[in-house]
Amino acid sequence: MKRTFEDVTKYVELESQNKCKVLSAKPEYKFNDLGMEVCVWNVKTDNEGDWWVVEGDEVPMNLYSQSAYYFGADEAYSFHMGLMKRMRVEQEKFSSEDFVRGVTLGTDIAPQLFRKLKNVAQLIDSAHEVEDFQSIGVQCREILIELGNYIYVPDMATNGEQPQKSNFKQKVELFLQFYLKGSENSDYRSMIKKLTESTWEYACKITHSSKATFYEASSCVMMCTSLIGVCENILQKIYDPVSQYECSSCKSKRLVIDSDESNEDGIVQKLFLKCDGCETITEVIF
Ligand SMILES: [Zn+2]
Repeated sequence: MKRTFEDVTKYVELESQNKCKVLSAKPEYKFNDLGMEVCVWNVKTDNEGDWWVVEGDEVPMNLYSQSAYYFGADEAYSFHMGLMKRMRVEQEKFSSEDFVRGVTLGTDIAPQLFRKLKNVAQLIDSAHEVEDFQSIGVQCREILIELGNYIYVPDMATNGEQPQKSNFKQKVELFLQFYLKGSENSDYRSMIKKLTESTWEYACKITHSSKATFYEASSCVMMCTSLIGVCENILQKIYDPVSQYECSSCKSKRLVIDSDESNEDGIVQKLFLKCDGCETITEVIF
């Protein structure tokens, strides 16, 4: 709905405390940076000063005093959009399950981790006080310890010395050394190790911080969720025998298993991968 000079004038005069009259009203700025057109009107009245009126197709109309807090049209605009966003977030029903699936791009997550991630993401929705944010930090740490216990198996300890039960960082490091072997993986190992350490430290920081806000707590949940997605990806790559190969003819990675050959013990020794594009069969020997 396009608002006219009359709409804006009527709105300001209705909202007025002292029965003011609008002397002039003109659309001064148009913003379109959030995919919708929002207009800021400069409105002058006889006995109630000057106002910014913000309105647009998908946002309700509201006015902001030019003398009180909002010196510029862009300030009034930013404030209005921030307020609208907050109202929309409160109206929309938050789905923690969608959140976890979204952050991890739909990767399969172990059920015990998925449940905990969903719970902590749900807490974000109702967290208001610093104690709520600290407790999100505590839960994130618990989730990371659970992640360590999920991905780690005793065979991963190369020197036979087992990490302590809740030594999350060491368990992930051994997990990375075990699955991401060789020099071709050294960059990935090092980057994921850094991600692991920062996520742990971030969660510890929130746990003890008296200044944490919704935003730090939310980042913490996002970091934990992402890290779990990354570890699940490493596991899934191991169990996906095809992902590392390409078509011997057109180099496409779009391969499907056409058939396999096993030895008498049932262990697969050869795979025949069919290219989805040119249908060439590529033979892989294990
Ligand atoms: Zn091909």
